[in-house]
Amino acid sequence: MPAKTNQSIIDLAREYYRWGLSIRQVAKMVGFNYGTVGYWVKDIRRCKSLAAILRVEPKSVHWRSSRAAARKKMERHLGYKLEFNEIVHHLNDDYTDNRLSNLTVLNRSDHSRMHNIGRNKKHGG
Ligand SMILES: [Zn+2]
Repeated sequence: MPAKTNQSIIDLAREYYRWGLSIRQVAKMVGFNYGTVGYWVKDIRRCKSLAAILRVEPKSVHWRSSRAAARKKMERHLGYKLEFNEIVHHLNDDYTDNRLSNLTVLNRSDHSRMHNIGRNKKHGG
């Protein structure tokens, strides 16, 4: 069975793994199971922090899509397309709470002021 495996797939899997993908992610991409890919990459040592940097955070994907949904919802509510300068802000800071009562439109500079009062904390919405 191992003889049938295309060497370029193994090389590709090892490359993905070096880039910081998890074995599970690599296995999914090359279409082999976890155990097989784990065997291919077991001699590769990699920097954990680089892996952490490269990993796509599920949260950030959600953050983006939820914010886009809030924007769409507000545009539908207002009946026009928001300008680049107009930001949909989540009043309760919960970017997953896309109820109209939790949304307001601010211009870009007012919005960044909202998020910088008293602290340097970045937040979701
Ligand atoms: Zn905001």
